[in-house]
Amino acid sequence: ENETPKYKRILLKLSGEALMGNAAFGINRDTLRAIVGEVKSIVDLGVELAIVVGGGNIFRGVALGSTGMDRATGDYMGMLATCMNAMALQDCLRNEGVETRVQCALDIDQVAEPYIRGKALSHLRKGRVVIFAAGTGNPFFTTDTAAALRSIEIGAEVVLKATQVDGVFTADPKKDPTAKMFKSLTFDEAIQKKLKILDATAFTLCRDQKMPIRVFNLHNPGALKRVVLGEDEGTLVHV
Ligand code: UDP
Repeated sequence: ENETPKYKRILLKLSGEALMGNAAFGINRDTLRAIVGEVKSIVDLGVELAIVVGGGNIFRGVALGSTGMDRATGDYMGMLATCMNAMALQDCLRNEGVETRVQCALDIDQVAEPYIRGKALSHLRKGRVVIFAAGTGNPFFTTDTAAALRSIEIGAEVVLKATQVDGVFTADPKKDPTAKMFKSLTFDEAIQKKLKILDATAFTLCRDQKMPIRVFNLHNPGALKRVVLGEDEGTLVHV
């Protein structure tokens, strides 16, 4: 069995929902453990890994719109939610013996390092998993955009977007049983077909910088490792 990773450095985008399991809210410990097992399997291959984690399982800024709360305030609360997920992820990875650092785009020095690109690169070179928290640090953005931005900043070779479905489909596979999955498609094809892969800001950034995106289902055991070994898993979006 060939165990040589296809990539030297990658960025994994985990949505907040990925940590939720079957619950409607929060972090499910078993789900977290399962994800950490998948992550450990690729760290053991020697690939340099950065993770951007979302916060939708705890809080979404836009959700407050209807309550009359200021959008920017809601977004900062959403960013704080990603910090909680990052800390949970770090804790679980540590239990599995994986060395990690959390770098936060908002300053909360007691629990995380600030985001410093050079330091992140140094951690990666030492084999530490770097978890980026608080998205971009700016309201009106998303953690997808943070994933795109950080992947480019750290010189990752690919953004791995973990989703709840197996890849990019012609239609929503949960609603349309005839939906077909793409093995690969170009950014331009995705635009023509109006396929939503990342939010528009994140998508444009990846397209401009020629950063490929692989969409795959993290809940398929071994999927992350197969992606890293260069196997045909999920959907590749490329220039
Ligand atoms: N957020 C933000 N700026 C960022 C990243 C996130 O304001 O750069 C806020 C925004 O309110 C968002 C919330 O944090 O709704 C959680 O992030 P996201 O929705 O991207 O999480 P995911 O959907 O991946 O769980």
